[in-house]
Amino acid sequence: MIYRKCFLIALSSIIVGCSASAVGRFADPRLAQNNSVPEGDPGCERATLVSTGGAFPRNPRTLAIRWTGYTNYELVYNNQIILLDAHFDRGSTFPPLGFTAADVKRANLILIGHGHLDHMSDAASVGARTGAIVVGAPVTTDKLKTQAIDAKQIRTVTGKGGELLEFTGFKVEPILGRHGEPPKDVTAAFDNALKAVAPKPTAAQVAERNEIRQRGTNDPRVVTEGTIAYLITLDDGFRIMFRDSGGTVTDYEKAAMARVGRVDVALVAVSASFLHTLTAQRALEHMRTYKPDVYIPGHHDAPFNGLWRATEPLFQAIKDENPNIIAVSRAYREPICFDTENNIQRRP
Ligand SMILES: [Zn+2]
Repeated sequence: MIYRKCFLIALSSIIVGCSASAVGRFADPRLAQNNSVPEGDPGCERATLVSTGGAFPRNPRTLAIRWTGYTNYELVYNNQIILLDAHFDRGSTFPPLGFTAADVKRANLILIGHGHLDHMSDAASVGARTGAIVVGAPVTTDKLKTQAIDAKQIRTVTGKGGELLEFTGFKVEPILGRHGEPPKDVTAAFDNALKAVAPKPTAAQVAERNEIRQRGTNDPRVVTEGTIAYLITLDDGFRIMFRDSGGTVTDYEKAAMARVGRVDVALVAVSASFLHTLTAQRALEHMRTYKPDVYIPGHHDAPFNGLWRATEPLFQAIKDENPNIIAVSRAYREPICFDTENNIQRRP
């Protein structure tokens, strides 16, 4: 019984953005992984996506978030499955995610942040298999329409306002963002250094990646017209911001946030600028805009011969500015659950 109480405290210290300090509570990290806890919720304990057959959270008001590499996230709420981005079959030069695109058998909605291969390469096949609605910017859906998916499932949004999408238990506001534009002198220097020291991909691996590349777009419009941030508002007021590229904040985002104030959870890409001074600066810009209770970063993993983008320096920078913010980073597929009835809008 004591064990179970500790577990609940541990869980709530992750879940709730209520306390004055994110580190003030006792939370033994071993307890949250202990599946023998009585009356636990498999939907919040197992590292299996619900879309690949895992359990739904017991309470439909529980939100389960699972990160699956780059800015792929699975959100489960009210028995609905939302996939944010769809790049699962990354090829043999990447660490395995523990499932394949073909394993994704159920989903209601796929929101594509932008159309680069590493965000949309499996959107068509997963959309076709699951029947999910797939949403993206014009440059993204132009590409989708050349692939094997029913055009009736595709929704095109510009993010410039007046496009509220309503679903069972939640609504989605697309907001025009901007793709990351990391300084070329920095990226070229690091890319050259990596090329010099990392084992070269085989011809087969190059061919494999080129095949995947065909399922995304490299249209230059992606930067200014093709990167959509999605503000998801659950029916109890809980808010999630999803932004899948580390670009600068746009006036559209500023206007939306001036209207809604804050979000409960921000799922935001780490910028691709390598240097922590630069990535932290951008993370601070995002956190000052969305003002989340909880920050869950994405796009920080990398192929075997690349560099993961460190999240600790970002966590330190944002906590130096706002000690109350909770920063959470998990391994692939590990669940992070929220009691959504505890949310900013409902607080006095
Ligand atoms: Zn991109």
